Amino acid sequence: KIVDSDRNCLFCKIASGQIPSKLVYQDDELYAFHDIHPWAPVHFLLIPKLHIPSMAQLTDAQAGLMGRMLVLAPKLALEQGCNPYPSGGFRLVCNTGLEGGQEVQHLHIHVMGGPRPWLRG
Ligand code: 5GP
Ligand code: ZN
Repeated sequence: KIVDSDRNCLFCKIASGQIPSKLVYQDDELYAFHDIHPWAPVHFLLIPKLHIPSMAQLTDAQAGLMGRMLVLAPKLALEQGCNPYPSGGFRLVCNTGLEGGQEVQHLHIHVMGGPRPWLRG
């Protein structure tokens, strides 16, 4: 069930420190933390501190905010141990809505990478 929460939003609580997380990065607008169930050697989530339920609610005024997230992702990926492009790299996933596989209703970008031997060769 998709609820437009805020006060009860898990990622709002994480971004405000009410619920602990393993911090990757934060500034005035953005927060990044390790996924609790990683799917890759490097797997963290990048979120706006502002409660935006998903990409479906983005407004034109938030284009800059989303742009900042996309520009920041490769920098954090390298800091977290992803290898450099092109032999390394990373994957961004932004699940949106029920059919998009979104489970937490606060916009987040999964950043996944690191050596994954099973994908090579
Ligand atoms: P979604 O399916 O909504 O795209 O992804 C939600 C992600 O949040 C999942 O990968 C899940 O492991 C992660 N997650 C859920 N609850 C917590 C939590 O309490 N702490 C952290 N660090 N990650 C969480
Ligand atoms: Zn939220």
